[in-house]
Amino acid sequence: MSQPHSPYDLKIAILGAGMGGLTTALALARAGFKHIDVYESASDLGFVGAGIQLAPNMARVLDRLDVWDGIAAEAVDIKETSVRVGSTNDELAHVDLHDIASKYAYPHMVGHRASLANGLYKGCLLHESIRFHFATTASDINISSTPSFTATPRDSSIPAYKVTADVVIGADGIKSATRSAMLSALGISEIGVQDTQQAAYRIMIHADQLRSEDSDIKALLESNKVVRWIGEKRHIIAYPVSNNKIYNLSTTQPDTNFAAATNATYTTRGSKEAMMRVFGDFCPLVQRMLGYVSEGEVCEWKLRCHDRLPTWVSGSVALVGDACHPTLPHLAQGAAQAIEDGAVLAVVLGRMPDGSAGSVHRALKAYEMVRKERAYALVDMAAASGRALHLGDGAAKEERDKQFAALKQGRGPVPDKWADADVQKEIYGFDCVQEAEERFGEYFEKASL
Ligand SMILES: Cc1cc2nc3c(=O)[nH]c(=O)nc-3n(C[C@H](O)[C@H](O)[C@H](O)COP(=O)(O)OP(=O)(O)OC[C@H]3O[C@@H](n4cnc5c(N)ncnc54)[C@H](O)[C@@H]3O)c2cc1C
Repeated sequence: MSQPHSPYDLKIAILGAGMGGLTTALALARAGFKHIDVYESASDLGFVGAGIQLAPNMARVLDRLDVWDGIAAEAVDIKETSVRVGSTNDELAHVDLHDIASKYAYPHMVGHRASLANGLYKGCLLHESIRFHFATTASDINISSTPSFTATPRDSSIPAYKVTADVVIGADGIKSATRSAMLSALGISEIGVQDTQQAAYRIMIHADQLRSEDSDIKALLESNKVVRWIGEKRHIIAYPVSNNKIYNLSTTQPDTNFAAATNATYTTRGSKEAMMRVFGDFCPLVQRMLGYVSEGEVCEWKLRCHDRLPTWVSGSVALVGDACHPTLPHLAQGAAQAIEDGAVLAVVLGRMPDGSAGSVHRALKAYEMVRKERAYALVDMAAASGRALHLGDGAAKEERDKQFAALKQGRGPVPDKWADADVQKEIYGFDCVQEAEERFGEYFEKASL
């Protein structure tokens, strides 16, 4: 395939239409790229009923892409957070978040995943340069400077076909086929999967389900508050989404119920009885909330982490999002980081001097230089925050609880890293697009060495 002279004529294939793939497509189209094809195994965006935190660093990217206002209009602006003992509901810490918007230019909002995905998708549909190929799975990915793959439509009446592109972006999630192909091309058999021993239930309670006697749950639904109930090896984080019409709960617990059975997304149908047992010693308020889940609607996720990859880039192929940095949810940054990846990719590809394979590779390496350390630092921080939240009796828990006590007097760090002002500064205060714009020249130069 002859290389187009202008970068904007490059043929770009994005594998996966999750948060990472959608953002990459939209950011590239807005940067002026003309040929963007998105291949997605699922027949539609297919997002599960679950909430998602829309942190200021995510909002900043979405606003630059002109999709933030629509997403924010359906979300809830969080003004405070409360960390409580799971068994008693006693408050360990209360953190005021009113100043987030003034500090970081965007509030900390929480929303429905479908709302975030649809907002990005609608943004993509405004661009003729983006073409979606739903119900089409990519396989046999050839990692090189002229990458290719086989696209197999789910409709068996349509034959599989070969796609060759100038750039392939593997935004294909935690079980990424692109990552496997890249590692194999690099002579690495597979990446180490870390057993986090954690699983998660995701639950949504709709306003019209609430019984009149559950006024305390109604008050939480109508609040602007994130609550975390913690216990040994388990916790629940909960917040209202969808303009306070749905109360969203996301749990973490040992993955003993989950067993080894997984499907493509590491989810499995769980049992309500098992879920109630796992949180059996949590306070009556939590019990009542879990009680709202209908039998047969309990879905459990296995929470995965991987060893660090030696590289995210090979030839003209790059990885994005969970494909290269799956992150435990305890910092609420996995999707935010996938979204930052997509925005940075558009900056670096848009600044290439030409569309040669050499320039593509160097630009992709510049992307990796902007992103890799930050994303992996947050992967580590999320894991550490989970460990602090899940401590059982012992010296470490005593130390953590001293920190919570000091916090009540207005001093010291928050062991729940998500709510810690210094951690927020590091995460929310970082402008990935600005960083990519400012350092592109330096990194592009370095990549040629
Ligand atoms: C319990 C829980 C709570 C979380 N809470 C938050 C939060 O509050 N805030 C936050 O920022 N993050 C959160 N996250 C993390 C976040 O959900 C993920 O990091 C994010 O969705 C990853 O996006 P992605 O686009 O990389 O991958 P995915 O969303 O997994 O998308 C990958 C897509 O690729 C498709 N695909 C896979 N293989 C192929 C193929 N071969 N060909 C074509 N298509 C393919 C898949 O169908 C899928 O649509 C949470 C995660 C969990 C588990």
